[in-house]
Amino acid sequence: MMQQYMKTKEEYKDCILFYRLGDFYEMFFDDALVASKELDITLTGKNCGLEERAPMCGVPFHAVDGYLNRLVSKGYKVAICEQMEDPATAKGIVKREVVRIATPGTNLDMQALDETKNNYIMCVVYMEDRFGLSVADVTTGDYFVTEINTEEKLFDEIYKLMPSELICNEAFFMSGMNIEDLKNRLGITIYSLDPWYFDDAICQDTLKEHFKVGSLTGLGLADYDCGIIASGALLIYLKETQKTSLSHMSRLIPYAAGKYMLLDSSTRRNLELCETLREKQKRGSLLWVLDKTKTAMGARNLRKYIEQPLVQKYDIEKRLDALNELLDNAISREEIREYLSPIYDLERLVSKITYQSANPRDMIAFESSLSMLPHIKYILSEMTSPLLKELYEDLDTLEDLCTLIKDAIQEDPPLAMKEGGIIRDGYNPEVDKLRSAKSDGKDWLAKLESDEREKTGIKNLKIKYNKVFGYYLEVTNSFKDLVPDYYTRKQTLANAERYIIPELKELEDTILGAEDKLYSLEYELYSDIRSRVAKDVVRVQKTAKVIAQIDTLASLALVAEQNNYVRPKINEKGVIDIKDGRHPVVEKMIPNDMFISNDTYLNDKKDRIAIITGPNMAGKSTYMRQTALIVLMAQIGSFVPASKADIGLVDRIFTRVGASDDLASGQSTFMVEMTEVANILRNATSKSLLILDEIGRGTSTFDGLSIAWAVIEHISNSKLLGAKTLFATHYHELTELEGKIDNVNNYCIAVKENGDDIIFLRKIVKGGADKSYGIQVAKLAGVPESVTDRAKEIVEELVQTDITSRIKDIAVLGAPKPKAKKYDDVDLAQMSLFDTVKDDDVLKELKELDLGNLTPIEALNTLYQLQNKL
Ligand code: ADP
Repeated sequence: MMQQYMKTKEEYKDCILFYRLGDFYEMFFDDALVASKELDITLTGKNCGLEERAPMCGVPFHAVDGYLNRLVSKGYKVAICEQMEDPATAKGIVKREVVRIATPGTNLDMQALDETKNNYIMCVVYMEDRFGLSVADVTTGDYFVTEINTEEKLFDEIYKLMPSELICNEAFFMSGMNIEDLKNRLGITIYSLDPWYFDDAICQDTLKEHFKVGSLTGLGLADYDCGIIASGALLIYLKETQKTSLSHMSRLIPYAAGKYMLLDSSTRRNLELCETLREKQKRGSLLWVLDKTKTAMGARNLRKYIEQPLVQKYDIEKRLDALNELLDNAISREEIREYLSPIYDLERLVSKITYQSANPRDMIAFESSLSMLPHIKYILSEMTSPLLKELYEDLDTLEDLCTLIKDAIQEDPPLAMKEGGIIRDGYNPEVDKLRSAKSDGKDWLAKLESDEREKTGIKNLKIKYNKVFGYYLEVTNSFKDLVPDYYTRKQTLANAERYIIPELKELEDTILGAEDKLYSLEYELYSDIRSRVAKDVVRVQKTAKVIAQIDTLASLALVAEQNNYVRPKINEKGVIDIKDGRHPVVEKMIPNDMFISNDTYLNDKKDRIAIITGPNMAGKSTYMRQTALIVLMAQIGSFVPASKADIGLVDRIFTRVGASDDLASGQSTFMVEMTEVANILRNATSKSLLILDEIGRGTSTFDGLSIAWAVIEHISNSKLLGAKTLFATHYHELTELEGKIDNVNNYCIAVKENGDDIIFLRKIVKGGADKSYGIQVAKLAGVPESVTDRAKEIVEELVQTDITSRIKDIAVLGAPKPKAKKYDDVDLAQMSLFDTVKDDDVLKELKELDLGNLTPIEALNTLYQLQNKL
C-alpha cells in the first residue's frame, strides 16, 4: 500500500495528498507534518518498512469538507485520492485514484464560500507587449477573457476581480513586476505553470474541443491571441484539477476593459465601494447601502455593477429607465421581490448538478426555486422599458425541468443519495414494488414476533435490527429459561441475550434484498434525473443571469425609493451639476436626517477645479467623496442622493486621499502619496474626475505647498491635462490661484465662531477659508487646555513672520514672470521651484563645483553666494 501511496504522491508533488483508507483520509510524511499543524490534529506514525515510522495523520471522511476548506483557504492544494473499488471484494491492493484537486480558486464547498461574491481563479499570460487575462468561477460557470496593454491596467483589473488563486506563465513571473506585493495584498498564492500549458496550438485545441467548434472566430476570439492562451491554459489547468468535463463552463465571454469606467485599486479602496478602508467590512460601504437584493445571484451582480460602472450613455439610460419603471410600479416590484426571496443560488446549484455532487435536497431546493420563475415572468410581461422587456424575453421559466424533478423526487428527501427515500411513489413501478416488499416485510416481522411470543411464552420478546447482526430476537435475562432449543445464541449482553432462528434469517434475506435493490434503483433513477438537468445547464445559467439582473434592478429601485434618490440626467458635455447632494453612506451613519446637503458644480470651462479649504473635521473629504460617489452611482445606472443631478460622463475617477498609508508595501507615506500623484498625472484624461485630498501633506510645508501648487497648474492646463478636480487643502496659500488661473475656484466649508470655539456648519460656500481653526479642533478633540493655550501663543508669534504676502508674488507657470524680489531668508529659495533658473553663469559654476572636496559649511556658503547672484 505504501508503494501505491508513494507512486501517487510522486505525481502530485505540489499537493497535500488525502489518501483514502477506509473511513479516513490519511496523510503521510511531510504532508502529515504540515496538515497536523495547520489543522490542529494529532500526528501519529505508521510502520511502513522504513527504519523510522512514517509521520501520519488523518481526517474522517464524513467531515472532510471542513478540513479541506481550511487547508485550501490557507493556500494549499489538496489532491483527493479515493478507493475506486469496494475493499471487501477487491483482490489484492484496493485500486485508488486522485479524483479531484482542490485549490483556493476551485473551492467547491458552497458553505465556506461567500455567496455574494464570485470565487475567481485567474490566469495571466505575459507576451512581449501585452497581457492575456482570463478568469473563471467553477462554482457558477462564469468564464471571461480580455487583453490588456499596460501593467497598471492589468493590476487594476486584478484588484477589481480579486481572484483567490492566480496562475501565470513564466514570463509574467520573470517580468520584474511587483508580484510579491500583489501576493501580499491579495493574500493568495501565485504560481507559474510549465511552458506547455501556454502552447498556442494546445490551447486552441483545448478551447475548440471544449466548445465543440471548428474555429475560435465564432467565439468572438479572433482578436485575442494572447487571451486565447490565457483562457486555454486556464481551461487545461481546470480540467486537470477538477477531472470533470466542466460542461457548466458553457460560454467564454470576451470583454474589452474599455467598456467600463476604469477604477484603480486605491480609488476603489478610498471610495469604500464594497468594503470600508479600515475594517474591511461591508457595513459602511456603498455596496452596503445599495444592497437590498434577495438572491445570491443578485448580490453578486450588484457587486459587479458597482465595480464596473458604465461609460456609455445608452447603457446607463437603459438601466435608469428600468429603475424608473420599477419605482413607478412599486407594487409589482415588491411582488417580484417576494418571488425572488425563496430562490436559491441557481448558478452554484446547477454547477453542483453538473459536478454530480448535488444531493436530493439540493435538487428540491433547485426545483422550488424554478417554481417561482413563471410568476416573475408574468409580472415582467406588463413592463415596457427596453431592459425589462429584454429580461422578460430572455427569462426561460424552465417548467420542464421543474416538472421533471417535482414528479420524481420526494418533497422532503434525505441528504444521503444511497439510502433510499428519494423517489416519489408512483414515479417508477419497480420502486413501488420493492417498497411494498419492504413494508410488507415489516408486517411479516411483527407477525413472527407475536407468533414466537405465543409459542415460547416470553412476553417481552422483541425482534430488533442492527447493522452488524441484521435482525435478531432479544430476550431479557428474566425470561432466559423459556428460550427453546432451536434458538441460536448470537450475543450476550449484561441484561439480555440475542438469538436468531431460521425463519427470521429467511425474512431478513427477503427484506434486505428488497431494500438493497430499492436503494440502488433509487440512486440510479436519481442520478439519471440529475444528468438530465445537467444537460440543460446553459439554459439554467441564462435564466440565473436574468434573475440576477432583475434582482439588482429591483434592489436599486427600492433603495432609491427608501432614500429619496433622484434620477440623474446624463450628459456628454462634461458638466457635473448636483443640487443638494448627499453622501450615500455618511447620511445613513449619522442620526435623524442630520446630514447637510451641498451643491457641486464643475465643467470643462471656467469651473474645472474647485479648491476646498476649511478646518479639519469640517467635512471636506465627505463632500469630495460624495461628489465622486454620486457620479459613480449615476454611471452604474442608479438613482442618486440629491434633489437634482446632471452628470457629465467621466472615463475614470481618481482619488488621492490622505492617510491611506500603505504600510504593507513598506513605502513611506510621502512616497506612496507621490506615487499615486504620479499615477494620476500620467493616466488621467480631460474626461476624468480627480479627488485630491491634502496633497503634499507628507513633507515639509514648503515642499508640500510647492508640489500642490504645481500639481494644480498642471491639471488646470488643458494642453497638459484639464481634468475636473476637487482639491482639498489646508494650505490657504493655494486660494491665491483663483484669479491667477481662470478655471480655478475657491470654496470653503463654513464654520461659525462662538467665542473660543467653533461650530461646524457643513455648508460649502464660495471663497477661501481664512483660518484653519486647528487649535479649536484640537480643543474639540480633547487636547489639554494647557497645550492648546500654548499653541495659541506660538501661532501669534508665527503670524508675525507672515508668508502669505510673499506667496502672492509667485508667478504661475506660463504667466509672465514677476520681477524677482529679494528676500534674505532661505524660505523663498524653495519657491524658486516655479521659476526656471536661466542664469548660465550660475549654472556653470554649479556644474564645476568639486563636491567631493567641499565641507558642509563650505557647501552652504557657496550655495548662499550662488543664490545671491540670481
Ligand atoms: P475633513 O475632511 O474636513 O477633515 P470629514 O469630511 O472627514 O472632514 O468630516 C468629518 C465628519 O463630519 C464626518 O465623519 C461626518 O460625520 C461629519 N460630516 C461631514 N460632512 C457632513 C455633512 N454634510 N452633514 C453632516 N455631517 C457631516
